[in-house]
Amino acid sequence: MVKHYSNEPYVDFTKKENRMKMENAFKQLQKSKGKYHPLVIGGKKFDTDKTITSINPSNFKEVIGKSASADTGYAEKAIEAASMAFEEWKHVDPKERAEYLFKAAAIIRREKYEFSALLVEEAGKSWVEADADTAEAIDFLEYYARQMIELSKGMDVFPYPGETNECFYIPLGVCVVISPWNFPLAILAGMASAAIVTGNTVIMKPASSTAVIAAKFMEVWERAGLPDGVANYLPGPGSLVGDYLVKHPKVRFINFTGSKEVGLRINRLAADISPGQKWIKRTTLEMGGKDAIIVDSQASLEDAATGVVKSAFGYQGQKCSACSRAIIVKDVYDEMLKLIIEKTGALKINDPKSVEADIGPVIDQKAYNSILNYIKTGNSEGRLLTGGNTPIENGYFIAPTVFADVSPSARIAREEIFGPVLSVIKAENFDHALTIANDTEYGLTGGVFSLNRQKLQRARREFNVGNLYFNRKCTGALVGIQPFGGFNMSGTDSKAGGTDYLLLFMQAKSVTEKL
Ligand code: NAP
Repeated sequence: MVKHYSNEPYVDFTKKENRMKMENAFKQLQKSKGKYHPLVIGGKKFDTDKTITSINPSNFKEVIGKSASADTGYAEKAIEAASMAFEEWKHVDPKERAEYLFKAAAIIRREKYEFSALLVEEAGKSWVEADADTAEAIDFLEYYARQMIELSKGMDVFPYPGETNECFYIPLGVCVVISPWNFPLAILAGMASAAIVTGNTVIMKPASSTAVIAAKFMEVWERAGLPDGVANYLPGPGSLVGDYLVKHPKVRFINFTGSKEVGLRINRLAADISPGQKWIKRTTLEMGGKDAIIVDSQASLEDAATGVVKSAFGYQGQKCSACSRAIIVKDVYDEMLKLIIEKTGALKINDPKSVEADIGPVIDQKAYNSILNYIKTGNSEGRLLTGGNTPIENGYFIAPTVFADVSPSARIAREEIFGPVLSVIKAENFDHALTIANDTEYGLTGGVFSLNRQKLQRARREFNVGNLYFNRKCTGALVGIQPFGGFNMSGTDSKAGGTDYLLLFMQAKSVTEKL
């Protein structure tokens, strides 16, 4: 009997025993620093000439681990292995498939501190953010397993005289999962487990910056006893192996989360038919955001400032859901600026290995350079209120940065920065604020702080985002509670963690028999 689904509780780090467990996990991790992780294709391990070196973004002299780096030859091998495995896996009972997810969830839950410690050191997450990533991975596994059991009953159809009719779901084939580094465990686990539990086989192409976490997740599949070839671990340069996988005629669908540029490229390449290809490839593309929080004149400003600062600077603003535009109605603008500066100033910047750290490093040199360039642009496009500097040496630390008086047409108000930079925009009134909020090519998350029910109702209808939050932060969607996905250039609105998600990875077959 499967228990009722509930979200994995977060660890309370105010408790000494939990802090000790995390410190122990760091000690354990120290022993495996520098370890090499081979490719895993069809259950076999492959070493490669080239390697990916994973660096601690808080201390770039420290190597977290190394991973093999696939080329197109290994990508071909992986497609062959996944295609072969599909022939058996597609016939495995959905309930049995779900069992592998339950086992994987149990393994991660048992070792959650080890996973979170690695997320701190490889991805630069604070303890709380790392724990949330680990908890979300567990949630995806638990939730999709239950969803598949439910969907195995098939689609409801009406009876028809003289016939029996049924309509059931079958898998598609080989899936390429391409994941980002910002939720390197949760998003990879979510995308891969959804494809696997629906009866497909998967090639996991994780982000290069967090290849070690992905390798650890691959080990979970192995330890859960997933048959060889159902999940394959294929790190490698996205532009090389990613392109090859996406174009391949034997790939049936691509499940991608990452930037708009790469997502649109995948969309274009997947639309072309390669010689020998028998199907129209499906793509699920979850991409970037330029998310806004509106602060109305009738709002609790204290709550609004807390919500804005949490949404803007949690994980250094490196969330697709991060608030990067605070749109504030002019009556409360000055008061809000004061509160935002105060709350931003209270954030502690430190190596996230310390439980005290609220703000850690950004992920790598490329991100660091790009964010600092945006800050340079911001200096001419807005009024710097706080931040803009790089407070700690030896790591990619950028202070949380706030620009005020930013025009809605400024580059820092329109382009996804993906770092700790907030643009504050003044609006004449609520109408104007809503117009500014919607004036973007993206449509992922949004927030409104208002105590006026009519204004909230209006935002409910007109604020064009996939995930809208009232009087709270606009990050932190929970699996099964706030299905997640964005509109327009934010993606295909797949609603990960919702009841519709698994349907994207299957096709429905209707069978009729005349009596
Ligand atoms: P990215 O640069 O687009 O990379 C994402 C993945 O795509 C990585 O595994 C990358 O591999 C791979 N890749 C790169 N070039 C490729 C190509 N030509 N073909 C196929 N794959 C390719 O994004 P990121 O920097 O990792 O992640 C940040 C972005 O993700 C932000 O825009 C953020 O908003 C978005 N995001 C969206 C959501 C959502 O749910 N909407 C959630 C999280 C993040 P390499 O690492 O080897 O380059």
